[in-house]
Amino acid sequence: MATGYFTLTELPRELVEIACDKCVWKGRYSKARLMAKHGRDIRLPDLLLEISKDCPKVDELGNDMCGARYEGL
Ligand SMILES: [Zn+2]
Repeated sequence: MATGYFTLTELPRELVEIACDKCVWKGRYSKARLMAKHGRDIRLPDLLLEISKDCPKVDELGNDMCGARYEGL
């Protein structure tokens, strides 16, 4: 149900969980830390792109790229 227009500051939780469908990578980030690093008004899709750089598949070429998404949103 992510609309793509919510910003980080509107996220109603303190822990942000990211999971990837294409690999087993999973991340859990504190909202406060994310705001300090990326700014509180970053849009959630943009934030996802930033965070998914941690995924081991994000640098792979071709059709097997990372499928990171927010968990539980
Ligand atoms: Zn991934």
